[in-house]
Amino acid sequence: MKLLFVSSECAPFAKTGGLGDVVGALPKALARRGHDVRIVMPLYGGQPSLRWDELRRLDGTLTVPLGFGPVRCAIRAGNLRVAGGATAPAPRIYFLEHHGYFDRPFLYGSPTDAFGDNLDRFAFLARGALTLCYALNWIPDVVNAHDWQAALASVYLNTVEWSHPLHGAASVLTVHNLAFQGEFDPRQLWRAGLGTEHLHGRGLEHFGALNLLKGGLFHATLLSTVSPGYAREIQQGEHGCGLDSVLRERAADLRGILNGIDDDEWDPARDPLIAQRFSRDDLAGKAACKAALQREAGLPVRADVPLVAWVGRFAYQKGIDVVAHALMGLVHDDAQYVFLGTGDPKAEQWLAELAARHPQRLRVFAGFDPAQAHRIEAGADLFLMPSRFEPCGLNQMYSQRYGTLPIVRRTGGLADTVRNCDERTGSGTGFVLDDLTPSSLYDTVRWALATWRERPSLFAAMRREAMSLDWSWSRFAGDYEQLYIDAWERRRGQRWRG
Ligand code: ADP
Repeated sequence: MKLLFVSSECAPFAKTGGLGDVVGALPKALARRGHDVRIVMPLYGGQPSLRWDELRRLDGTLTVPLGFGPVRCAIRAGNLRVAGGATAPAPRIYFLEHHGYFDRPFLYGSPTDAFGDNLDRFAFLARGALTLCYALNWIPDVVNAHDWQAALASVYLNTVEWSHPLHGAASVLTVHNLAFQGEFDPRQLWRAGLGTEHLHGRGLEHFGALNLLKGGLFHATLLSTVSPGYAREIQQGEHGCGLDSVLRERAADLRGILNGIDDDEWDPARDPLIAQRFSRDDLAGKAACKAALQREAGLPVRADVPLVAWVGRFAYQKGIDVVAHALMGLVHDDAQYVFLGTGDPKAEQWLAELAARHPQRLRVFAGFDPAQAHRIEAGADLFLMPSRFEPCGLNQMYSQRYGTLPIVRRTGGLADTVRNCDERTGSGTGFVLDDLTPSSLYDTVRWALATWRERPSLFAAMRREAMSLDWSWSRFAGDYEQLYIDAWERRRGQRWRG
């Protein structure tokens, strides 16, 4: 199949979270299954791993029609990186080079405010991706739009593309996090090149606002999200973020497919970013990684103390407020904690103050550093991820792969991917709590620490079980393939004969 991914993020070029990891990895697994996959994303400035000079600039300019007139941009092209010896071609990735829109230090806005022109920027991405197909003379069978930033691609295929070749393309909208919907002033819709006839409750309007994700949810041929658990949860009020009725209406068209992880990037036996490589059968390297992490964090270098880590956004979604409360008690116990993250400035400050009071126990790195995330996953014993809701979550999978047992809340993708410690059978891959309160989190962390200290053989068995799990994309790419075939057949009303 010819598959077009439209996304605002793609690792390693630019990512702020799981969306980037997925778009950087799934296309490679689909290419291995024989598909022609291409990705379109913005050419951002200020991203150390997005090296403009390493990308080829294509001849000519692309003219993208938006409501306020044509917008021109250049196109750069590159490829996703695949491991040496790969047999399938590396998927091609095209970057829309528009300096005014994308050469900024952040992807979506400063830590406190979204950019005021995000509607223009992401309408440009969605329409630009489709316009590029004509310039390349390459008409995809399916367009997979990711999150609100690309959701307009599904809307355009049903509207402005009417009677053009792209109208035959099916679309799939993948929801990575329903909490982010792309809401704007409805009076601005014309800027995206769409008329007010689309501003209604079964289109782009939601309680008086222009809501790009909702438009995509109604217009896409089929829908997907990133775990079976989250697919169920978002159809209910508690996690539906106001769109649960839309999702219930389209329940038959919504699939939950678990994310995989990129083996080229996340494999402790091959990872060039960690102090010493290791595997399930040879954990000597993991001890070396722990000592290296303790040194890096300025903590006492001790093998006899458990090391608990956090890598992720300091956000209410992730339960950082509850973690902060529980930590006040936990730092009095003989254990070490390393945090890497950015987000809520109050949480950052609070954690920094607590770390200053307990420098032997807690170290907080404020920032976004993918290489450091690898060192932390490799060096820690336990990983904290007690999210309020979690569409899929990747860090708990990386953690299990690196023998770092996750402590998670039973929600969304976390419930689908972590098996609670069962002392009776001596098995499990992590520690699971149900209620997110400081005391239940405190108790669960204490339980995990006690298991590490007092039942080392159980901990080792769990570590082995966790490291044996297969999270590779090859497990899940087939489900996406079926989703694309079903979407194409729905759109065309005929059988796919690939
Ligand atoms: P979300 O997308 O909700 O933020 P996920 O667990 O799905 O959460 O994905 C987060 C991704 O972003 C992971 O690859 C994680 O390692 C990475 N990440 C998050 N925060 C940081 C950080 N401060 N530094 C480096 N990587 C980070």
